[in-house]
Amino acid sequence: MSIPETAYELAAVVREQGVRAVDATRQCLDRIVALDGELHCFLHVCGEYAIARATEIDRAVDAGHDPGRLTGVPIAIKDNICTTSSPTTCGSKMLAGFVSGYDAHVVECLEREGAIVLGKTNLDEFSMGSSAENSAFGPTCNPWDTSRVPGGSSGGSAAAVAARMVYAALGSDTGGSIRQPAAYCGVVGVKPSYGRVSRRGLVSYGSSLDQVGPITRNVRDAALFLQVIAGNDDRDATCDRRAVPDYINNLTCEVSSLRIGVCQELLGDGLDSQVREAVRHATSQFVDAGATMVSVTLPHAKYATACYYLIATAEASSNLARFTGVHYGNRSANSETIEELHENARGELLGNEVKRRILLGTYALSSGYYDQYYRKAAKVRTLITQDFEKAFENADVVITPVAPTTAFPIGDKVNDPLAMYLSDVYTISANLAGVCAASIPCGFDTSGLPIGLQLTAPAYCEQSLLAIAQTYESHTDHHLQTPPLIGTS
Ligand code: GLN
Repeated sequence: MSIPETAYELAAVVREQGVRAVDATRQCLDRIVALDGELHCFLHVCGEYAIARATEIDRAVDAGHDPGRLTGVPIAIKDNICTTSSPTTCGSKMLAGFVSGYDAHVVECLEREGAIVLGKTNLDEFSMGSSAENSAFGPTCNPWDTSRVPGGSSGGSAAAVAARMVYAALGSDTGGSIRQPAAYCGVVGVKPSYGRVSRRGLVSYGSSLDQVGPITRNVRDAALFLQVIAGNDDRDATCDRRAVPDYINNLTCEVSSLRIGVCQELLGDGLDSQVREAVRHATSQFVDAGATMVSVTLPHAKYATACYYLIATAEASSNLARFTGVHYGNRSANSETIEELHENARGELLGNEVKRRILLGTYALSSGYYDQYYRKAAKVRTLITQDFEKAFENADVVITPVAPTTAFPIGDKVNDPLAMYLSDVYTISANLAGVCAASIPCGFDTSGLPIGLQLTAPAYCEQSLLAIAQTYESHTDHHLQTPPLIGTS
């Protein structure tokens, strides 16, 4: 029996003894060996651990047990999510070699359901970036065109899924870090509503914005992974207690009563014409299937980038204060005093983008500037949230691009932080408002690069978000395309 292409199907056949978890795991590990020299999706591969886990799972199946909903499914974890099976570096020299004493809640959930962790994926240092180029350990390449970025910050996760090295990967999304790389790599990415998924064991960047979510090959698999990781965790006080609906068995929606919100002001200047065309085409596909298109307006979206880069940097400056080389982080040699110890560790071991953000955030919070910057940004955040609430009175979902362009060349924006920040313009608002959003493949540009469609739904409406995404996916085949470099194997 050949090994299925999706997590949902793989788990089912491994449970029925049709395919061995060990074989599925070996196939993925072989692909990593074949391609990761070129792509650099992984910072750590824990092959022995994975094979041992897979063997254990096969044994459990043979003994008549059911290891769970992800039985034998090989996955990867972004390297800012704590695992005991391999180091957690956050793409930073500050944490090089650090092994967490505990697994993140989401990792526990996945392993409890029989998933097999193959390793940790590359990212922009501490998740700060949109291209994976800010990793201290070198960039990841986009599997569709290795001269281009995979997006960021969860670039390694998205590229690994696109290159079929794993069936799914976890990412984290503070301002678009799941959705934008998913779009650039032609896979599905879901940012859950704030509080839907536990952040315990996720290394904090912007704590009021961060969420963990799945990156997968199709919508059903995204629903499956979200089902497993969502829900209350008493060890994260910001986790919401409401019950998790059954996403998997409710993936259909009544298209004739579906209201698709289109926001004209987000389809104007600065948007690549091929991306605009792909989003327009996707909208017309919904309408052809029977949905109604409604116009919505998000008047404060134009302030989202400025607002985000104040709030996220302010939170980052506080969160990253713990990395002093004393309690957390590596030490630099040759320090005589405690001040020097702190200064040298931070000076030598943090990258330029991380330092820039700590400085921006510290400035925005400093006395005298707090009211002018941080408080103002917090007020704008409320206005952005209210814009969405109004939009969702008339629309079930809002359709936008994920990013203004397709994947850009490696090196193109790395010395222009503002240009890099502007590539987050469509994704940031969902984090500020705490709503849920997904990126799904909606076509390719003339260079063969994938284009992503963003669907945004009200907070805690993941069920309808996924059902709408699945409805679109069922009318298209973009998600079935694979990068030329993986061949037909
Ligand atoms: N690209 C955005 C940033 O650089 C978002 C990152 C993220 O979501 N972690 O902050």
